[in-house]
Amino acid sequence: MISRCRYCDKEAVIRIPYAKLSLCVDHFRGFIVSRVEDIIKRCKMVKQGDRVLLAVSGGKDSIALAHIMNNISDRIGFKLVILHIDLGIGEYSKKSREIVKNICNKLNLDNIIIDLRQDLGFTLPDFISRLRTRRICSLCGIVKRYIMNATAIELKLDAIATAHHADDILTYIVKNFVIQDYTYTRKLVPITRGIPGIAATKIKPFYEVYEKYIALYTMYSKLEFIDIECPYSKDNDLETIIRRFIDDIENKSPGIKISMLRRFANKYLQLGEEDITKNCSFCGLVSQKDICSFCKLTEKSFGKPLGIELRNKISEKFILGNSLA
Ligand code: SF4
Ligand code: ZN
Ligand code: ZN
Repeated sequence: MISRCRYCDKEAVIRIPYAKLSLCVDHFRGFIVSRVEDIIKRCKMVKQGDRVLLAVSGGKDSIALAHIMNNISDRIGFKLVILHIDLGIGEYSKKSREIVKNICNKLNLDNIIIDLRQDLGFTLPDFISRLRTRRICSLCGIVKRYIMNATAIELKLDAIATAHHADDILTYIVKNFVIQDYTYTRKLVPITRGIPGIAATKIKPFYEVYEKYIALYTMYSKLEFIDIECPYSKDNDLETIIRRFIDDIENKSPGIKISMLRRFANKYLQLGEEDITKNCSFCGLVSQKDICSFCKLTEKSFGKPLGIELRNKISEKFILGNSLA
């Protein structure tokens, strides 16, 4: 027997066990948008008049979030600005940039592109070869996080949104417990408030959205996303095991991922942020040590810390209107 959508006469294409809902394509897409809108309002992530920087890599999660945030922006009254970082990783970066440009043109979104080669004179592969590191993704993470923060600070934007979803975040929480390293656990909340002038507020609007529903949203919305993998990506065995374990519990107890995340967030949001009093002595942005990781690593590889140079480049681009359409 064909099951019908809870809200209309159309055939249901999906059953969402934790919400006890069978939905047609349109109502499923509406459901996902409403989940994002709900957490943005509940956690007071964004208010009317804010300008929000959304980091879009071209992957399905960030493309879906750009589409959804654009949909919500008029209702809440915030302005969305897309940031894409071109890492200079051959075909992968070329294709990613093209896809991000396409969605920005299609949705008429303001965008800023930071091109490592053009703006800083190096690509991620150059950086890796000079540092001879095997921890490529963590180096890439340092570069991307620094650029996001510097862009938001230079352009005086109110928040940075990233597309981390419920499965990513729960996996990190459980992994931190397994390896007993809680250094970054506090950051796994839906919102971390910024420090004026040195650290931007960070928000995770997909905090309570499951990865499989984002994939379906992308498919049903016919969104274009990058379908080749970054050549440096590799599976993390521990994270894969944890993801399977969490999925098993969810199958037996639908909704448990959301309730775990809500309890975690309530506890850590009450604790608040750790006092970070340091500024990087080179670039002035937030740092846990005297020199931030970006300045430290660029100094090590290129002989000079590049934080300030990057900050200047960003303001220059903004003033000239080069890539902020
Ligand atoms: Fe960067 Fe690693 Fe992602 Fe490639 S897979 S874009 S190196 S974080
Ligand atoms: Zn319907
Ligand atoms: Zn610095």
